[in-house]
Amino acid sequence: MISKSMEELVAGSSVIRALFEEGKQMAAKVGVENVYDYSLGNPSVPAPAAVDEAFRQVLDEEDSLYVHGYMNNAGYEDVREAVADSLNRRFGTTFSGDGILMTVGAAGGLNTALRTLVDPGDEVICFAPFFGEYTNYIKNFGGVPVVVPADTRTFQLNLEGLDDTINERTKALIINNPNNPSGVVYSADTLRQLQAILEKAEKRVGHPIYVISDEPYRELVYDGVTVPFMSLYIKNCIIGYSFSKSLSLPGERIGYLAVPKEVDGYGELMDGLTVAERILGFVNAPSLQQRMIKRCIDEATDVAAYDKNRRFLYESLTEMGFECIRPEGAFYLFMKSPIEDEKVFVAEGKKHNILMVPATSFGCPGYVRLAYCVSYDMIQRSMPAFKALAETYFK
Ligand code: PLP
Repeated sequence: MISKSMEELVAGSSVIRALFEEGKQMAAKVGVENVYDYSLGNPSVPAPAAVDEAFRQVLDEEDSLYVHGYMNNAGYEDVREAVADSLNRRFGTTFSGDGILMTVGAAGGLNTALRTLVDPGDEVICFAPFFGEYTNYIKNFGGVPVVVPADTRTFQLNLEGLDDTINERTKALIINNPNNPSGVVYSADTLRQLQAILEKAEKRVGHPIYVISDEPYRELVYDGVTVPFMSLYIKNCIIGYSFSKSLSLPGERIGYLAVPKEVDGYGELMDGLTVAERILGFVNAPSLQQRMIKRCIDEATDVAAYDKNRRFLYESLTEMGFECIRPEGAFYLFMKSPIEDEKVFVAEGKKHNILMVPATSFGCPGYVRLAYCVSYDMIQRSMPAFKALAETYFK
């Protein structure tokens, strides 16, 4: 029937499906208001009003055949120019429209980039903790994911030993900044060190090693933290962006890849990305979304609600004795399991109707992820449950 590799994938995705099912069963039993579901990274702040207004304007003002038609596989030229101009204005970069490829969200962009770079057997490095789908995306093209374990002291990129990990088969690294699940923002200093390692390694292996920078949370930062812009630090980078989180549009599937002119093999790379977008079956990013994005390019979600959740959750759980990484970006809190096996801790949490994700699925056992893109009210209501959970471990 279905392929062996897909059988394995279906079996492997059962943890998250099981969590979802358990949440539903719990709600049926104890009432939805008594279930504290921290499992999903679905934005809880509505899209800015300007987004809906832009959709209306596109439908009212633009030619219908044009708006709903095919276009260049890389996207509408004027939309790509608008993305490049916005990046250049905000980050002092020099992108041109032909270095932008509109994509079907970050997931579409990552798959397009990997299809372009990876031959079967090629290696792609991921730094733990990482978004669990990366390994699936790499395997989609016969690539081999190579996991660098987390630096659990700082949760910055673990660069120790990276040079030894890179070999002739290494094609790319995937970096996610700000990070899901840790909430950490990789510093400019970390990126400078990474560039020095890559420059040396590229000479040794004799080909470019591309950093695929996955940045769906770029706009979601707190405490005045800024995310260093990847192309200002890393020469051979492909920047992947998505409006799923920054405009609260995850179901609409819109994002882009941005490639600086300075990368090795720029022309070949852009041609490859454009063909990959087509033959993966995306053909092009959704046209109505592209037209809307042109009108909303500098809009961003109001992060105040996430910030309020973040402060309250971090402070309350830390006070109870839990060890948490202070999140600077995204909308996740990464918490150390009080016992070695975090799956047992997650099961204990369920007894108090708390749903957390075990971080083994992010390549970082011993930790759990709490998505705080939920209502403030739910966080407050969950406090007695967390207190009871804390008492199990810290007497
Ligand atoms: N990358 C990371 C780190 C994510 O957290 C997500 C979604 O949660 C994605 C990529 C996929 O984003 P998109 O909905 O834009 O495909």
